[in-house]
Amino acid sequence: MTTPDVAAGQPQPPGATRGFTPEAARRDVPVLHRTVNGRPLVWLDNGATTQKPRQVIEALTAFYAAANSNIHRGAHTMAREATQMYEAGRAAVAEFLGAPAPESIVFTRGTTEAINLVAQSWGRANLGPGDDVLVPVLEHHANIVPWQRIAKETRARVVPVPLRPDGSVDQDAYADLLSARTRLVVVSHASNVLGTVPPVREMTALAHRYRAKVLVDGAQAVAHFPVDVTDLDADFYTFSGHKIYAPTGIGALYARPEILQTMAPWQSGGNMIESVSFDRTTYAPVPHRFEAGTGHISGVAGLLAALNWLTAFDRAAVADYETSLTAYAQQALAQVPGLELLGPVAERIGVLTFTLPGRAPAEIADRLDGDGIAVRAGHHCAQPALAHYGLDAAARASLALYNTREEVDRLVASLLQLAVTGCAHRPASPAS
Ligand code: PLP
Repeated sequence: MTTPDVAAGQPQPPGATRGFTPEAARRDVPVLHRTVNGRPLVWLDNGATTQKPRQVIEALTAFYAAANSNIHRGAHTMAREATQMYEAGRAAVAEFLGAPAPESIVFTRGTTEAINLVAQSWGRANLGPGDDVLVPVLEHHANIVPWQRIAKETRARVVPVPLRPDGSVDQDAYADLLSARTRLVVVSHASNVLGTVPPVREMTALAHRYRAKVLVDGAQAVAHFPVDVTDLDADFYTFSGHKIYAPTGIGALYARPEILQTMAPWQSGGNMIESVSFDRTTYAPVPHRFEAGTGHISGVAGLLAALNWLTAFDRAAVADYETSLTAYAQQALAQVPGLELLGPVAERIGVLTFTLPGRAPAEIADRLDGDGIAVRAGHHCAQPALAHYGLDAAARASLALYNTREEVDRLVASLLQLAVTGCAHRPASPAS
């Protein structure tokens, strides 16, 4: 069990920093040591969700074993402890993102809910007929559909920002599309299907010249490189805990404090009010007015532990390692006959989406699974990005800090086998 402090509400001391090696990270993550189909697991589905270090698992257990209570209500010790932990989690997220204050952080279920919150609250109040929302073609559906829906209601327009052939966001087209009509630009800090890392800082500065607001979807970024929302000058920034070694069902929205102050509540109920009567209801101050109902309290304990775990490593060393592993994987995959890798060569994260001639993506994933290698196949919730390449599906291997060159070698060996002989290393079934 971890220190009960995590669950009992004491912010974990920043912790002695640890020298980063992928092996050190792997040792902490129990599931990486299991087998799948008789082979040691190679988890290359980190873009979908990351695996959890024992520090996170133990924080959840410790919360329920020693500290479970609802928060912000109840005048007893455990309610106070749980509230303290929850608010320490908020402060940790603010620090992690370089946000100016904990009050600028709203806990959500994840990126999807955070974007919907902005669309429904800020969008409903600030978009109208003749307004444009600029959305790069590489966005995840979670950063397209909420804008389509609110644009329809408010009679604003969703304007796609095209990609260059290599999968980077066309900056010339972006500059041309910006105008006095632009109210909002949304952009991923890293693409979940092409790996592209757009020049978000520059895009934000340009958007601000037109007085447009900028929402950055950090779902695929925060685990891979340090983020500073103040330096980016983003108006909104979102991420999901489960993509950064924390539990599912918890995530966060950062909003520039002056903007958050002006936003009306989205969901309503308990926890978000100051007073309720049948004549007049008033709302709690930010950020609580955006957190209706009981939140994912244990999720915050897990998120706090995940952020402590990740930030105990030297983040620059983690980012450098992932960049070199990505370059290694790009070169290694190039040995597979016919394999086409999508996305730019540089300015990218380790999301490796590919096609193999004559092999359906689902078949590739299935064959790799037979070798204990988990990759994803399908449209990756980014159909416009795949359509840019004339595709409706592809296979995707996505890397994290605990992946190794040996694992990349196993991926490439299986793909070579599949490309050359038509089957991977799957052991023959008794019937065949
Ligand atoms: N944005 C991006 C870039 C993503 O990769 C994802 C998930 O894959 C999301 C948004 C949605 O995240 P969640 O399902 O955790 O809300």
